[in-house]
Amino acid sequence: MKSLALLHASQLVTLSGPNRPRVGNELTELGIIRDGGILIRDGKVDIVGPSDEIEKDAGDAEIVDLGGRVALPGFVDAHTHLVFGGNRLDDFERRARGETYEQIAKAGGGIWSTVEKTRAASEDELFAETKKRTDWLLKCGTTTLEAKSGYGLTLEHELKILHVIRRLNEETPLEIVPTFLGAHAVPRETSPEKYVDLVISEMLPRVAKEKLAEFCDVFCERGYFDIEQSRKILNAAKKLGLKLRGHVDQLSNSGGAQLMAELGATTADHLEKTDEQGIAALKSANVQPVLLPGSVYALGSTHLRQGSGGQASYPLAREMIEAELAVVLATDFNPGSSPTPSMPMVLSLACTQMKMSPAEAIAAATINAAYSLDRGDTIGSLEPGKIANISVFDCTDYREIAYWFGISQTHSVYVSGRPV
Ligand SMILES: [Zn+2]
Repeated sequence: MKSLALLHASQLVTLSGPNRPRVGNELTELGIIRDGGILIRDGKVDIVGPSDEIEKDAGDAEIVDLGGRVALPGFVDAHTHLVFGGNRLDDFERRARGETYEQIAKAGGGIWSTVEKTRAASEDELFAETKKRTDWLLKCGTTTLEAKSGYGLTLEHELKILHVIRRLNEETPLEIVPTFLGAHAVPRETSPEKYVDLVISEMLPRVAKEKLAEFCDVFCERGYFDIEQSRKILNAAKKLGLKLRGHVDQLSNSGGAQLMAELGATTADHLEKTDEQGIAALKSANVQPVLLPGSVYALGSTHLRQGSGGQASYPLAREMIEAELAVVLATDFNPGSSPTPSMPMVLSLACTQMKMSPAEAIAAATINAAYSLDRGDTIGSLEPGKIANISVFDCTDYREIAYWFGISQTHSVYVSGRPV
């Protein structure tokens, strides 16, 4: 493979720093090199530095002039529900008319409608439908993502989704980290007790045996899986060697953050209702919070915060940063509550709605997200030896990526040193 030298980035945002997730003030230290360049050999970062120095070392490398644009490590999207059938356009319109979740579910919408469409699709159909969406992710500058199962809710259909994730990982430029989320909802045809038993006794052993997932996740919420059921499922997963993530405290503060700390989970995701005690618990066990502002935005529920009961509001990002948690940002890409594959949109929401600085948001979407997927030593920053996943944006200051919203500024994307 020919070496490649990318030269003349107005800002080469390297995120160089300690070999661990970034916390507190470290989140603002992006390791920016002005008029930066990067030499790539064998798909990996060889050297980074000022362009004139890189040019001297470039030898016979192919030279690409970035023309004063901004270059970053490819975004790492650490929470998506990538594989699903159909869409939820009718729910979207009903919500716009002011209908409640219950009314929408009664009219045949909600998660169940996605489960039906996902079950009805063959593996090939689901693969073709999802592959289109992976192009959206690349166009937004994402090069690695986590993808969950969870719209099958039977052994057969959960395995089908995980097989699609495996194929997408093999057949697209994206690196996709698989998560088993069999406990996404209780299917209509069975009782919660029976379903938890099915997840533990049949689904998890099969998923582990076929090595179809690295992580196990649970939707821990009233009406879905309570603390005790979530604990049972996650403990069973842990025994099989899976690492843990969890949808917790999205609609109610039910002690989900504390559960994830107790179990030594890698991440606790959502956390819209998590309070100071929950934050302290996450800190005590070094659990990384994964914040998903896209779902709060798309549900349009923030203005209902007062007395809104089960409505979501933005999580306490500033308090989490002050508590030195290694905050992560992700899209939660899914057809119901967050139909966006765009990390730049999530950065905009992080800055405008959760008062994160643009630098903090970038660190949360790259290096910290990489650590949350157990890949902090290979991706998430542009440092010698790391995989050369690079996204180039058509702007001159990295803050513009979060500032201009609603337009794509992605200029080009490199995966393992190759343009895609
Ligand atoms: Zn989710």
